[in-house]
Amino acid sequence: MAENFDAVSVIATKRDGGALTDGQIDWVIDAFTRGEVHDEQMSALAMAILLRGMDRREIARWTAAMTDSGDRMDFTDLHRDGRRLPTVDKHSTGGVGDKITLPLAPLVASYGVAVPQLSGRGLGHTGGTLDKLESIPGWRSDLSNDEIVSILESVGAVICAAGARLAPADKKLYALRDVTGTVESIPLIASSIMSKKIAEGTSALVLDVKVGAGAFMKSESDARELAEVMVELGNAAGVRTSALLTSMWEPLGMTVGNALEVTESLEVLAGGGPEDVVELTLVLATDMLAAAGVTGVDVSDNLRNGKAMDVWDAMVRGQGGDPRAPLPQAEHSELVTADADGVVESIDAMSVGVAAWRLGAGRARQGEKVQSEAGVRLHVRAGDRVRSGDRLFTMYTATPERFAAGAAALDGAGVIGSTVPHIRSRVIDRVTVEA
Ligand code: URA
Repeated sequence: MAENFDAVSVIATKRDGGALTDGQIDWVIDAFTRGEVHDEQMSALAMAILLRGMDRREIARWTAAMTDSGDRMDFTDLHRDGRRLPTVDKHSTGGVGDKITLPLAPLVASYGVAVPQLSGRGLGHTGGTLDKLESIPGWRSDLSNDEIVSILESVGAVICAAGARLAPADKKLYALRDVTGTVESIPLIASSIMSKKIAEGTSALVLDVKVGAGAFMKSESDARELAEVMVELGNAAGVRTSALLTSMWEPLGMTVGNALEVTESLEVLAGGGPEDVVELTLVLATDMLAAAGVTGVDVSDNLRNGKAMDVWDAMVRGQGGDPRAPLPQAEHSELVTADADGVVESIDAMSVGVAAWRLGAGRARQGEKVQSEAGVRLHVRAGDRVRSGDRLFTMYTATPERFAAGAAALDGAGVIGSTVPHIRSRVIDRVTVEA
């Protein structure tokens, strides 16, 4: 029987800088999930945690309590042709133009590994994988457990919505954090992500922890700490977990927006696509396959020979979609051009993300419908030379009255000057458990 506490004393403990006991944590998460601890009390506690932090014991206990607030999935018994399939998943902390899951899941699955990718929707300036895939006519995100298992065994990859019973404490808490300025807390982000991943039951996990203007973590040291905490939580829970720190100062690839990003992902699956999207897809695929015990393969092979695309087609069909159907295209477009000659010194990821969101690609409130066709296409990258009047961005929307807000967000997003920037790899570092 769980001990009983009262919410005010739990809040006061953290407010005054104390550490919460295991009993306090178990009680508060359980009581919040049941509605006994009210939203305003949990909001106050989240703010106290954001301001005061948590030690590693508290984070581990908080994560375990959130994991145990709902059901656990079990993918340990997946088989194909009499062989047990290893499972591996990837999670990104979110960024602008981050469509990597789309080419990555079928690519990894094309090497005989199962990829159960339970994904979310976008909120604010970062896009959601499910919103992107829903631009494919007929495609469904809501699958039953039996459907998930059947597609994993036959196709190898599934990208779908997490059911309501997966870490319900996190669902409630995340919605509160979103409206109370308490998202950007390392203990709360780490426990939110890892409770869902542990409940999802994958045996291995590769995290893509983003750092930069378009990410939750704006400094490399914060991103590194977040990665270390999550890697520790995953491995302690029996999930083989590692992380990459990757740059999110600039948008990823040349498109931001739902259907636009699906089209770019298809270019990668066809063996082309922007260099940075391809690089990150290959590095993550190599790490995921290694975590699942598959080594000594050249992961670019199955992009070139069409096997990853075959898995994509089967995955989309398995979820009711038509992989050959034309994607929605915006009726209205407007250009943003350079106002000076020079070199593009940088392109601000956050500004481009906000522009795409204002054009209709994202939602301001949970449950709102997004426009599949809205978004921003980049015509230049950092390092490109431009002349005044050259194209920088094209904005797309179904509702042209949004152009003014999109253009305002893009004003100054591309910095044109005289300094040629040093273009580095997207991958900053890899974080693993100490041997
Ligand atoms: N993604 C999550 O799932 N949770 C967070 O807290 C932040 C990003």
